[in-house]
Amino acid sequence: MKRKVSEKSLLLTESVIREMSREATRYGAINLGQGFPDFPAPEDIKQKAMQAIEKDYNQYAVTWGVKEFRDRIAEKTKRFLNLDVDPESEITVTCGSTEGMIAAMLACVDKGEEVILFEPFYENYAPDAILSDAKPVYVPLYQTETGWHFDKEELKAAFNKKTKAIIICNPNNPTGKVFTLEEMKFIAELCQEYDALCFTDEIYEHIIYQDNDVKRQHVCMATIEGMKERTVVVNSLSKTYSVTGWRVGYVIAPADITTAIRKVHDFLTVGAPNCLQHAGAYAMQLPNSYYEQLQAEYQRKRDFFVPVLKSVGFKCNYPEGAYYVMTDISNFGFEDDFAFTKFLIKEIGVAVVPGSSFYQNKILGKQQVRFCFCKRDETLQEAAERLQKLKLK
Ligand code: GLN
Repeated sequence: MKRKVSEKSLLLTESVIREMSREATRYGAINLGQGFPDFPAPEDIKQKAMQAIEKDYNQYAVTWGVKEFRDRIAEKTKRFLNLDVDPESEITVTCGSTEGMIAAMLACVDKGEEVILFEPFYENYAPDAILSDAKPVYVPLYQTETGWHFDKEELKAAFNKKTKAIIICNPNNPTGKVFTLEEMKFIAELCQEYDALCFTDEIYEHIIYQDNDVKRQHVCMATIEGMKERTVVVNSLSKTYSVTGWRVGYVIAPADITTAIRKVHDFLTVGAPNCLQHAGAYAMQLPNSYYEQLQAEYQRKRDFFVPVLKSVGFKCNYPEGAYYVMTDISNFGFEDDFAFTKFLIKEIGVAVVPGSSFYQNKILGKQQVRFCFCKRDETLQEAAERLQKLKLK
């Protein structure tokens, strides 16, 4: 008898992040697992989406995206990154950055070509490699007192003539790392030396924290000399405008790569929701103060919640960007991250993501869990109270 399902499908495991959301609902736990806000999306952006439906933007948009939205994306990209992008030939609107990344990989990577990933990595990239027949090559990020770092020699050793691309997520999910200009230049040099592409997931570009005298800045790989022609920037409305359920993202890439991405995107999804792209066009024009406020709000939440985690016994650094904290749970004496997460959901009433889901080598994440803090103050307060029960004697 023929097997009903494909070999590829058997290689995929269900998303642990999404599974934890279902578990949180099942046990009534506060969901600090899957990274999405529990506060309302901005009122004016919602109004624009409703008006767009009223105006009957309810049929297919152009497959690669509503022109006005692409124009506004190009303007915003110029405003924040000082990068010139042609909306006619270098932007593709996708169903979230999730589709953006897989469409880019399917468009660029051939069977057996190697794709380098920093480990821990956002859960989706490994399945993306399976779906696009890429061979993932993992390079560790090491946690020290000063944050998460890679070893330059190890990264260099991962590049070879079969390397097609490196994936970076910057600011990084799950570690909160913000790659420095110096690190980006080092990666850029390797990409150029080995004629490799860079797929860069920049959905947290506006969520960066400032600590004391460190002046942290988001550096987009495409702005580094010699990189625009080999960089695919994946971005989305989800995190910047708190609309993760809209599934509207976009990909910026050189015209030749964009042509390939648009074809893959067209046959995968035809297009992203027309009405929501009109609201996106509006969102792209929000003044700088919107982004400053977003940062300030998340900085406040981080500065409230990280000390709570430390005080009850988690070991962690303050994230530099994004809205997650990867924590070490070894103080609590649990066998592994799943046992701990189960306990946390059922007995404490807080859901998190087991750390091993961000590793290919599961052992490395066995004593880690990831918290997100993109939640209302009351939610974080309530979680903080519940977590007190964990306090080490
Ligand atoms: N990016 C979010 C996270 O890491 C949500 C992932 C998802 O479920 N699409 O939690």
